[in-house]
Amino acid sequence: MLSGMNSENMVNENIRIASEAEPGHFTKEDMEIVERIKQIIREREKVGCTGCRYCMPCPKGVDIPGNFYYYNLMYMEKKSSARFEFAQNMGMRKEPGFASQCVGCGQCEKHCPQHINIREKLKEADHDLRPLPYKIGIDAVRKIMIR
Ligand code: SF4
Ligand code: SF4
Repeated sequence: MLSGMNSENMVNENIRIASEAEPGHFTKEDMEIVERIKQIIREREKVGCTGCRYCMPCPKGVDIPGNFYYYNLMYMEKKSSARFEFAQNMGMRKEPGFASQCVGCGQCEKHCPQHINIREKLKEADHDLRPLPYKIGIDAVRKIMIR
């Protein structure tokens, strides 16, 4: 399920909780490691989406943060497993929210605090998440499973 946060936010949140629980627990070295982890996450992340959902709802039913979550997951973890998760979770919803439903109205971009070029990034996400064989497979399963 979607966490509503990107990985870097999760790291920050975990640090906050841990430091509140044990004040002074983190050494300078620990913080350097944490910064390195955050840098790696930033480098791998395809879209700096925090999952805030200010861009939602989309009038065409696109699940904007959902698409970005799985798109990022592909580069944080294994591509095939992220695609599989996407197909299983988003792809099998009654209203799937695929990026291809976007008509390019631009409404969402006015509300994004991260100033993400959502329309462009959705195209990239869809291209990566649903290459043709996956698209055909998801459509076929939807026809059988979702009525
Ligand atoms: S640009 Fe696309 S994703 Fe954004 S609100 Fe319009 S239809 Fe939805
Ligand atoms: S408003 Fe921007 S950061 Fe927030 S969920 Fe939408 S795309 Fe992601």
